Amino acid sequence: MDNQNLLVLNFSSRLHPQDPSIVTVWPKRRLQSPAPLTELVIDAGSQASPASASSSSSPTKTLNSAPAFLSGNFFSPISINAKPLKPKSKPYSTSLVKAVLQWNRKPQLAGETPRVVVITSGKGGVGKTTTTANIGLSLARLDFSVVAIDADVGLRNLDLLLGLENRVNYTVVEVLNGDCRLDQALVRDKRWSNFELLCISKPRSKLPIGFGGKALVWLVDALKSRQERSPDFILIDCPAGIDAGFITAITPANEAVLVTTPDITSLRDADRVTGLLECDGIRDIKMIVNRVRTDMIKGEDMMSVLDVQEMLGLPLLGVIPEDAEVIRSTNRGYPLVLNKPPTLAGMAFEQAAWRLVEQDSMQAVMVEEEPKRGFFSFLGWG
Ligand code: ADP
Ligand code: MG
Repeated sequence: MDNQNLLVLNFSSRLHPQDPSIVTVWPKRRLQSPAPLTELVIDAGSQASPASASSSSSPTKTLNSAPAFLSGNFFSPISINAKPLKPKSKPYSTSLVKAVLQWNRKPQLAGETPRVVVITSGKGGVGKTTTTANIGLSLARLDFSVVAIDADVGLRNLDLLLGLENRVNYTVVEVLNGDCRLDQALVRDKRWSNFELLCISKPRSKLPIGFGGKALVWLVDALKSRQERSPDFILIDCPAGIDAGFITAITPANEAVLVTTPDITSLRDADRVTGLLECDGIRDIKMIVNRVRTDMIKGEDMMSVLDVQEMLGLPLLGVIPEDAEVIRSTNRGYPLVLNKPPTLAGMAFEQAAWRLVEQDSMQAVMVEEEPKRGFFSFLGWG
């Protein structure tokens, strides 16, 4: 075994005090990940909980699977014209946490492709577009072919978050009018060519007359039947509310990601939307709890993730902490998951993408860093 490519991770884990299905892990030592990482040895440590023991039959577990994924472009530098975002404050010992939670394999795509996933919430401003951009690019980095449809017609901004606003020349309206071909309306990302953006119409325009669920189904079918590049994932960024735009956005979807924040207004809207999705035949609904602040949860000023789970009764796809880097990345048009070094929210989005691909085949993990200083962070991983 080549020592240069061996990373030994030493971490402790314990069960979540309230929910035994969640394991908390925290690193004991800070290590720099050598690149490329071809072998990963996890030393579960002396405080390993029954949960971690069940996930690894012996205290030391060696994972030998597919190094090709890691030696490929996943960790390689991103070539873009814009300067990569550098977090102002020193973030976290992310290389280690990332290594603890990162996988030396490509995730196994579950379900039939293309998977048509609507990202919805009911309430506006909770993070649907942020989630679409970050999960979409994470999936592209994992080598899946992704088309993100911005179905928020009046207030389109997925193009801005992705930094692609100057490259949207044609939209679906022009395609339907016969003014251009579908592939001309697809904007290929400059960083990951397997990620494409499709906008329904120009910003601030109204939903085109006659454009409804059937037109979107036609569009999704046209994307599926593309010969050269049939997507693995079609992500639909849904508008807020539950009116015509929402109904249109959910029509072609087979599964949904419900984004909510841990506050009562967002939860009520999320609950209403869950009912509407189920009425529409979408039974595969997972939730992302966004903008979680552990300091407020500890002070009992914010609902915990478990409270949210109890109220909505939906499987958890991810827990995204409140992170100022999200706002900075939004303003830069540079999605968080591309940041180097990664931020906590970026890693949380990445793990949500993994769980989406594998359809919850992993156990939820809550990463807790720097326990002595009382700094906590959550990541959903199932
Ligand atoms: P929506 O599409 O649901 O209307 P957006 O994705 O546009 O919501 O997000 C609304 C605002 O919230 C944006 O300014 C975004 O930067 C911010 N935001 C979203 N998630 C987070 C987060 N985890 N931490 C901090 N700010 C966030
Ligand atoms: Mg939005």
